[in-house]
This record gives sequence, structure tokens and C-alpha cells, in this order.
Amino acid sequence: MNQIQAVYNGKFDFLDKIKISPLSRAYTFSDSVYEVIPFYNLKIIAFDKHILRLKNSCKALSIAINIDATSEEIMHLIKQCDFKDGYVYYQASRGVDDIRSHIYKESISTETFGYIVEHAFKPKSLKVMFCEDLRWQRCDIKSTSLLGNVMSMNFASEKGCDEVIMHKNDLITEGGASNIFFINNDCVYTPSLSHNILPGITRELLITKIKESGIRVEEGQYTIDDLINAKSIWLTSSTKGLAQVSEILDYKTNLEMDNMLFKKCEEIFKNNFFI
Ligand code: PMP
Repeated sequence: MNQIQAVYNGKFDFLDKIKISPLSRAYTFSDSVYEVIPFYNLKIIAFDKHILRLKNSCKALSIAINIDATSEEIMHLIKQCDFKDGYVYYQASRGVDDIRSHIYKESISTETFGYIVEHAFKPKSLKVMFCEDLRWQRCDIKSTSLLGNVMSMNFASEKGCDEVIMHKNDLITEGGASNIFFINNDCVYTPSLSHNILPGITRELLITKIKESGIRVEEGQYTIDDLINAKSIWLTSSTKGLAQVSEILDYKTNLEMDNMLFKKCEEIFKNNFFI
């Protein structure tokens, strides 16, 4: 296997050469934020939007970041790699403590880490299950504190599912690592942005492009019943792209996999992201 290229605190090295302190607050508190920046045919998808979201996540947690240096590191990882399709995972943590303490010292230096992964963007239909949204109340921050997602997705995986659809008090929030769209009555619906969901970049780009093509898109609050009554459902993310849902475990097997409006949205997605 080829060695994986990485960067730690601005220094490039192979992933397995990087040593990180166990007192990194990323390790002790998940006091860190991250981005996943996809590239296809060596073209970075929505680079500026990913960089802006990383900046916003850092700002929300008062983590200082040199965003120009970060941008250069990400681009360098992509420029020097020997494959065409993949993504860069990039994380900024508050830094390394002298001694573990909830209250951090103002003098602590931000710790950054990134690595590059080869990834084939192949559309795949997904079997999903509903689960209660167990997460904290600031899911709009792209924090590495993802235990609610990890617990739910692994529970679903044990049941033979690929993803989860989370709900809070009957209202649909998002997937474990994706945003949700569905179709009913010739309209595309997706939960509106709030503190309970991540402002997905694939979500944002897709909404814009679908609207531009004249298709109605509504953002609002939707229930489990709305999904049970949907004709077509799909999930979006930087690594999954647009992934159609084929089944909701114990709830729904009659999804229209050839739904015309879905096919149009899928076409719009392919034409805009994979060129
Ligand atoms: N929600 C969650 C919880 C996610 O982890 C992701 C993937 N990072 C998304 C939504 C989709 O976001 P994006 O389209 O920016 O990858």
C-alpha cells in the first residue's frame, strides 16, 4: 500500500510518521473541528465554501486558525498526490494541554492535522433506519465530537443498514453523516438549517442548482410521517455525493427508485459536481 501523505502543524510527512501528544485536547475533549474537502478529477469541489465553514466552526469555538496556511496545506496535499479522486480530511484542535483541564489556557497554540485519501465517488443506494437524535444542541458546528452519530451509525450497521435518519421529537434532522432530501407532490423537501443540523455544502449547492432548473424546493420542518409518505428519499454529503435511499428498515420498502423528479435531481447533481 502507498504511504499516506499528511500534514501536522504545517509539516508534511507520511501519516504513520506523525506523533501526537495524548494531551491534545482533540484526544481528551474532542475540542476540535474538521472539514472533508472532496476533489474529483483533481478539481476541488466548493473549496471556498469548505474553507469558510472551517473558519466559522473555529470562530464558534474560539479556536484561532491561520486560514491561508490551512488553504495552502490542503492544496499542496492535493497537488502532490498521485490519484485523481479523493478528499482531504483536515482538523484544527485547540492545542495540547500541560495538564488535562476543562478550562483551557489562552496561551495554547492551535494544533492542525490533515491527510489525503483516495476515494471513488460511486453512487450507491442506501438502506437506512430511523433513530432518535442523541446529539448535543450545536450540530451546526462541524466539531469532531460525534459520539451520537457514531453510536447510532454503528447500531444501524449491526442491523444491516448503511446510514441513519435522525429525528428529534418526531422532527427529522439529518443523516448520521449526511443531509436529507425527499420528494412528494412534485416538490423537493429538505429540513431547514438550524442548530440541529450541519449546513452541508453538498446540500447548499444542490438546492441552488435544483432551484435554477425550475424545480420547487422547500426548506421546513418535517416529521417521520412525511418521510414515510415520501415517493423518493436521498442523502447528500461530500463523500457520498447524492445517494438514493432504497429502504427504511421496518418502515418503508415502497420507494420509487425510478421516480422522474429524482432522476432529474440526480442528473443535475452529476452535471454540476462531476465534470
Ligand atoms: N451532516 C452531517 C452530520 C455530516 O457529517 C455531513 C458530512 N460531513 C453532512 C451533513 C454533509 O455535509 P457536506 O455536504 O458538507 O459533506
